[in-house]
Order: sequence, then structure tokens, then C-alpha cells
Amino acid sequence: MVAFQISLGIIILILIVLIISCRKAKTDTARAIRQMMLLGILITLDIMIQCICKTELASRALFGLYFVLTDWMGFGIAKFALSYTNNGKYLKHINRLFPILIFDIFYMTVNTVRPFAFQVRRIHTFIGDVFKFESQLPFVVHMVIVYFLVLFGIVVFLIKTIRCSAIYRTKYLSILLVILGIVVLNAVVMFMGDTVDISVYGYGIGGILLWYFAMKFIPSELLNQTLSAVAMESNEGIFIMDETTCAYMNAKAKTCLEIIKKSDTEGIIDVENPDTIKIYFEKIFNNCENGQLYNHDFQTEDVSYFYQISHKGLWDKKNRKIGSSVVIYDRTIERREYEIQKYNATHDHLTDLYTREHFYEMVEERIKEEGIKYLLICSDITRFKLIIELFGVKIADEVLIKMAGLIRESMPEDGVYARLSDDRFAMLIKKKDFDESTLKKIANEMAVINEDFLYTLKVGIYNIVDTDTPISVMCDRAQDALDPIKDDYSTCYTYYSEEAREKLKRDQELIAQMDSAIENKDIVIFLQPIVKADGTVAGAEALARWIHPEKGLIPPGEFIPLFEKRNLIAKFDLHIWEQACVKLAEWENQGRDWFIAVNVSEKDIYFLDVFDVFTRLVSQYKIPAHKLRIEITESALANDINTVTQLVNKLQRLGFIVEIDDFGSGYSSLSLLRNITADVLKVDGRFLSNQKSDSRGEEILKSIIRLAKTIGMKVITEGIETKEQLDFVDEAKSDLYQGFYFSRPVKENEFVKVAEALEARKINQ
Ligand code: C2E
Ligand code: MG
Ligand code: MG
Repeated sequence: MVAFQISLGIIILILIVLIISCRKAKTDTARAIRQMMLLGILITLDIMIQCICKTELASRALFGLYFVLTDWMGFGIAKFALSYTNNGKYLKHINRLFPILIFDIFYMTVNTVRPFAFQVRRIHTFIGDVFKFESQLPFVVHMVIVYFLVLFGIVVFLIKTIRCSAIYRTKYLSILLVILGIVVLNAVVMFMGDTVDISVYGYGIGGILLWYFAMKFIPSELLNQTLSAVAMESNEGIFIMDETTCAYMNAKAKTCLEIIKKSDTEGIIDVENPDTIKIYFEKIFNNCENGQLYNHDFQTEDVSYFYQISHKGLWDKKNRKIGSSVVIYDRTIERREYEIQKYNATHDHLTDLYTREHFYEMVEERIKEEGIKYLLICSDITRFKLIIELFGVKIADEVLIKMAGLIRESMPEDGVYARLSDDRFAMLIKKKDFDESTLKKIANEMAVINEDFLYTLKVGIYNIVDTDTPISVMCDRAQDALDPIKDDYSTCYTYYSEEAREKLKRDQELIAQMDSAIENKDIVIFLQPIVKADGTVAGAEALARWIHPEKGLIPPGEFIPLFEKRNLIAKFDLHIWEQACVKLAEWENQGRDWFIAVNVSEKDIYFLDVFDVFTRLVSQYKIPAHKLRIEITESALANDINTVTQLVNKLQRLGFIVEIDDFGSGYSSLSLLRNITADVLKVDGRFLSNQKSDSRGEEILKSIIRLAKTIGMKVITEGIETKEQLDFVDEAKSDLYQGFYFSRPVKENEFVKVAEALEARKINQ
């Protein structure tokens, strides 16, 4: 008896402790468990008292209480089943059955005084004499209530156990088994005959087991399983190391390990042996900071992987090391994407050379590191815009790709190369590696005639002399250097020089100011007299002068060739010709019979309808055509002989006098005379040296004059500076003369005075 009572006492104590320990848990499940443990205590106490009960009445009362408590327990099981299986929404239906409990309390109370449902009888058991209850037919009501409730709970658990995911099966199955255990024990006791009700152990121990499974084992087991599922599915490689070995690694960790193994030159890693994994990580994380992310590149034959790895020590509450974790973040894809983006941002998409910005960065870096041992070279494809216009973007792109290919093939490997913009490329190479033949080779390859179209490569070189000049300025200078040779087919590269830069700057200023200078009448004509053999003035040549507000008088040599090169000359000449016409009209009104010769540049013939312009001018200013003489240089004639011949003939038919200027300065002078039937040949008297003994020059000049006369042309000898020169050409029978000997070119309003002085000089002679 004593042992029985003590064992039940211990169970009660354990239940009390457990109730206290989980008193703070607020979940439905915890509440249900606490309730059942409390019922377990009450039922056990009831049985304990029953064992020492002496009267039948007291025994019936205790049994009545016991049955009421089992009813309550049935309710507890049903409610617990619903809340634990996540069916809390049905709890209210169970609560509706609560009046049954009240009914059973009443039932059992009545039975205490008037036993109709069960009787008690004293029996002898191993713990001594105790009362045993004997049921009568009305007891079935109580049985039905209890078994219905318990069965309901069992069914709920059974369904849940079958339907739930495998990971949750233990959660429900364990509870189901505990409840089944209590029921079976109860049923067995009922059929055992005269013995102590040992099913009381079932309630007590069942309560403890429910607490253990529902509150302790299952949650932590589930957590473990869930965490392990999360870890297994994780995109990060996770290794858990315990004291001795690598206790856990997920699928990603295995994949990473295969890659890492390829870089493990010491051969530490054996994927099948977890000990080696722990040894490897301990080695690489020796002296590393706890939890810090470290970047590692791993290279297989053809692919490189980028992992960020962190290593963390694991300690228990008492700060004893229990292991460590290694987490590998595979950043390979992000790294590749970053590298692609970086490549796109730093490389020109068409040629794969560097972009301008990246070139500047790279060059700056190089110069900072290695100093001024470099040349910065810029190239430009001539007439590139015309290539686009004539052949389209596709062909133009092919030209650029070809250029990039040539740079890659021919230039030194350690150079830095870029496409700066459209057709502009830049190269940084060491001075010692510079080889002009390579440049020429590239230029030759680029000088391709495509359907009669010639494009050439021009290269400007900037010799880096200090590291402080911004790279953009260096590029501009190399670019400036090539500017003057753009139209020069014989040269493919030049070096940048301060003088050239100054000239370029001046040129650019002049170009920028041309229009306003014409508008402000800063560009004027000077007139240089052209005199007859008898010394009277026959006419004048109109020579352009720029009276610059800051720079003073600028001679045509400084801007005419520039405007010709930049195709600006036509507008300029129109202005000059117009001024000459104004002067001629003025002379006409004054009754002066002088002509004015104007210069026509080669480009005028391309950009203007020269015939149209001249006929319009003479009719507008009402001037006889022969008074407006037209000087075309020999070189202009030589370039497009057919067009010019037609133009000359048309002009002559309208009465214009056409002169061939600077005869003898070109290479094809004589053959030219075969084709062009110009009226006048202008021979340069400076052809004669001032030395009297230059008989060869004299003979040539004489022959030219004679030849001109033979073919019916008049001759003007220009550049007469001395009396001797005049005497000589006079003897050779030149028709007209021009030169400083008579007068320098003068302002147009001073011309009449100069002419009169010349006339007076003739009279004085
Ligand atoms: P050009 O047509 O042969 O003009 C004659 C040049 O020789 C002028 O130079 C004149 O000043 C210079 N000159 C005349 N007599 C002498 C002399 O005795 N000794 C020396 N040393 N020089 C003499 P300028 O005015 O400097 O003009 C140079 C060239 O510029 C002209 O050569 C002409 O080709 C061009 N030019 C001048 N004005 C115009 C213009 O309005 N339009 C065009 N397209 N070209 C022009
Ligand atoms: Mg001239
Ligand atoms: Mg001339």
C-alpha cells in the first residue's frame, strides 16, 4: 500500500513541477496540456484517497468524482486533439457538449446517495482491502460520454497522422500512441476483475508523456528537421564542424567542396572523409577573424569561381567551444554579371577597344606608375563622315572594326588602346616601342580605295613630357597635331609641337572670325597697279587684306590657304569680287578705263557656279566683262582640266579676260598651254634672280614670253622689283608689268593717287 501511495505521490509531484515549469506558455496546446496534467493529479489523488477509504458512501463519492474527472479528461483530450492538430476552429463545437459534463456530475452525485449506476464492494488486493466499483446498466451513459470524447480525439489524431507531411508524422503519432496507451490500460483494468485500479498510472504517466512529446521532444525535433531542411535547400554552402569532424554539410556545400578541392594543391580534402574537411577549413581560417567574410577565387581548368566564406566558432552557455560553422556564399554569377557589366562600361561595343573614359583612367594609372616613358597617339580617318553618307553606317562600322583590328594586331601588346569617338582612336605606347613603319603599315592598310573612294589615316603624336597634364588635354594635343596634315596625302603622322598648336589656335580664331570680319568690312581689297610698257596704268590686281581690330593688317598668305583648306574660300572670294566690282563701277562712272583682276581659287570652281557669279556681277554693276579680269592659278587649272577649260571658254565667249596666274610655278605648265586657251599668261618676274649673270633664267623668261606671243597670249610679268628687271622684261616684250618697283598693293581709295604719281613719273622720265 505504502509503495503504491509513494509511487502515485511521486507522479503527482512530477506533474506539479511540470505544470509550474510550463505555466508561462500561452499557446492553446500548452493550456490543454496543463489542464490534462492537472486532471491527472486530481484523478491520482482521488485514487490515493480511495485506497484508504473506509465507508461505501465515501467510496461511491470518490468513484463519482473519479468518473466526473474522466469525463473532463475526455473533454480535455478532444479539445487538445483539435488545438494540437491545428483545428482550433472546431473547439466551439466541443464546448457545446459541456452541459453533458454537468449532467454527469449530477448523475454521479445522485449515484452517491442512491446507487443506480454503479455499486461499490470491498475486495482484497495486493495493497490490502479496497473498494471496487461494479457498474449497472445506467453506467453505460457515462461510458458512452467518455469513450465518445476520447474516440473523437483519437480519430482526429489518426486522420492528422495519415494526412500530414512525413516530417510532422512523429508529432501526431507519439501523442496518438500515448492516448491509446491510456485507453488500453483503462480497458484492461476494467476487465481484470478484483484488483487495484492501476489505470491511474496511465493518467499520471500519460500526462508526463504528453508534456514531454508536445512541449519538449517534438518541438525541438521538428525544429531540427525544419532547420536541416532549410539548410539543405539553402543556396549557401553550410558546413558544421563538431569537436572532431565535419558533422554536417548541405548539398551546396558538397558542390562547393568539389570546386575548392581542385584548388587544394596540398591535397588535404577528401570529400568522402569529413575529418579532412575540418582540417582544411581549420587551416585556411587559422588566424582569421570570427564571422568575417573572406573573398576567395577558385579556378578550375576553364572557369573561375568566386566564393565569400565566413567561419564562426560555436560556444555553449558556459563559453566552451562546441564546434564551428563555415558558410560559403557562392558569388560566381554575381561576379560574372559584374564583370560583364564592367566590360561593357569600359569597352566600346563596336570595336572592343576601351572607351574614352576608361582609356583616360588607364593612361593616368600607367603614367602615375611608370612616368613619362609613353607617347600618346591619336588617329583620325579622313573623310569619315563622307564614308557614312556615301556607303552607309554598315560599311563605316566595318572600317572602324578594321582599324581596331589593325591596332590590336600591329601595336605592342602592353599598349593601351581606345576608340575615343566616331573615327577617332587613341593609343598609349612606350616611346621605345614606337616604330614609324608600323604606323605607316596601318595607314597603308587603311588607305583603301572603295569604289573610287579614298580614305586615309592621319596620326598625331603627343610626346608625354610631364605627368600633370590631364589626359584629355594630351589627347587634344595629339589630335591638334594631325589637323594640319589632314589634306596632305604625303604625310601620315606628325608630332605635336607648341608652335604648331599656336598656329592651329590662330587658324581657328581666324576661321571663327571670318564671317564677322566680312560683315564688319574688316576684309578689304588692296589694289596693285598693273602698268603698260609705256608706263601708263592699265589696271590693278585686287588683293585681299584683313584689317584685324587687334592683330592689325593680316596678309593673305596667313588666311587664304587656310580658308581654301577648310572650304571657306568661296564665301570669302565672293566678298572680294563684289568689292572689285564696286570699284570698277566707280571708275566707270569717273570715265577711267582701268581693269581689275581678281583671284579665283581652285575650290571656288567646286563650290560656286563661277560663270553664273561673274555674269551676274558684271550685269549687276553694269561693267563691261573685259574690265573684270579673272586670274586662275596654274595648279587650279591642272587639277581638273576639263571643267576649267569649259569654264574658261564660256567666260571668254562673254568677253571676260582669263589669266593664268603664277605660270611656271607648277609642274605641268607647258602641257597646260596646249589645252587652255586663256588670254593672258602671268609670269612671275621673281623667277629672275637679281644677279645679272643669271642668263639661264633670263633665257627661259624670254622664251616663255615668246611662246605666249606665238600662241596668241598676252603676258603680264609680275614681281618686278628693280629697274634692271623691268629693263630686261621690257626688252623681252612683256605686255604689262606689275611689281613693287611700280607700287605695292595700296588701299583702294589711294589707288588713283598712286596711278597719277605713276603717270607723272612716266612724264618726268
Ligand atoms: P598672286 O595672285 O600671285 O598675287 C601677287 C602677289 O605677289 C601678292 O601677294 C603681291 O603683293 C605680291 N607681289 C606683287 N609684286 C611683288 C613684288 O615685286 N615682289 C614681291 N616679293 N611680291 C610682289 P599677296 O597680296 O600677299 O597675295 C598672295 C597670294 O594670295 C596671291 O598671289 C593670291 O594667290 C592670293 N590672294 C590674294 N588675294 C586673294 C583673293 O582675294 N582671293 C584669292 N583666292 N586669293 C588671293
Ligand atoms: Mg593673282
Ligand atoms: Mg601671281
